[in-house]
Amino acid sequence: MKCPNDCTVETICRAEVKKHMDEDCPLQRVACRYERIGCTEQVRRQDLERHLEEEKDRHLQLAMDSVVELTLKVDEMAIKVEELTAEREENGLQPPDEVGETYSDEFDFSAEISPPVSPQF
Ligand SMILES: [Zn+2]
Ligand SMILES: [Zn+2]
Repeated sequence: MKCPNDCTVETICRAEVKKHMDEDCPLQRVACRYERIGCTEQVRRQDLERHLEEEKDRHLQLAMDSVVELTLKVDEMAIKVEELTAEREENGLQPPDEVGETYSDEFDFSAEISPPVSPQF
């Protein structure tokens, strides 16, 4: 059979079509190599080099933007890690006992109140 994209390949066996489309066909549309940084264009494989050449300023800008975004995220995460570390250090010094005491005080309090009341009815 012929290539579904009607490219220069003359004949191709059915089993090879998908591989040809995915890997070789010059007329198959493929995602730009910079898809992950935000270029959503789909170009024919044979036009990809030209696209990369023509759009390289824009790709560079996209790359810059995503680096900036990543840097901000890394900063944010660093701050969160610091906060969590500080919180954990604070917790490590006191709270477990304090929390336990508060809980058992409340529990004893209600336990003392209710039993004496009910037998009298
Ligand atoms: Zn083809
Ligand atoms: Zn692109």
